[in-house]
Amino acid sequence: MRIGLYPGTFDPITLGHMDIIRRGAKLVDKLVIGVTTNPSKSPLFTLDERLAAVRRECTDMPTEIEVVAFDTLLIDFARSVGASLILRGLRAVADFEYEYQMAGMNQYLDNGIETVFLMADVALQPIASRLVKEIASLGGDISKFVTPPVHKDVLAKIGRSKR
Ligand code: ADP
Repeated sequence: MRIGLYPGTFDPITLGHMDIIRRGAKLVDKLVIGVTTNPSKSPLFTLDERLAAVRRECTDMPTEIEVVAFDTLLIDFARSVGASLILRGLRAVADFEYEYQMAGMNQYLDNGIETVFLMADVALQPIASRLVKEIASLGGDISKFVTPPVHKDVLAKIGRSKR
């Protein structure tokens, strides 16, 4: 059984993430979505809120999905869930350098686990959780970037009601 791991912060989960999950799910028998605690990014949503949102948004995927929290070294976590692939989404050049370096370092740590890069649908590529939060906090419309339940969660979190 081929198991893939898609790690991220998902603060919050966007349509870009969901597109990568849908594409990645076609490549594996089971996809583990690893939600990092990532205190260095000071997430808007708690770990439990992010786990719940990812689980809620991934009920209708083409393969078995498991959503798990992790706060260890990525490659150790990948091994512990039996993953042979780490899936990452690539957005234009901005992601490239960081992802290139991460994939290279992870090759050193375990050459048996491959990092696979996927591109989201062209229309969804500019979407980033950071910008979704920034736009929402300034009163902008984020409905093209997240699902309606996530939209509601974001507005509730930043103290604005959904118009
Ligand atoms: P972000 O980078 O937005 O804070 P995450 O850390 O949760 O989000 O990202 C997890 C993975 O999903 C990373 O590989 C990231 O590049 C990828 N990703 C996020 N948004 C998109 C998108 N719109 N298109 C393609 N990949 C994406």
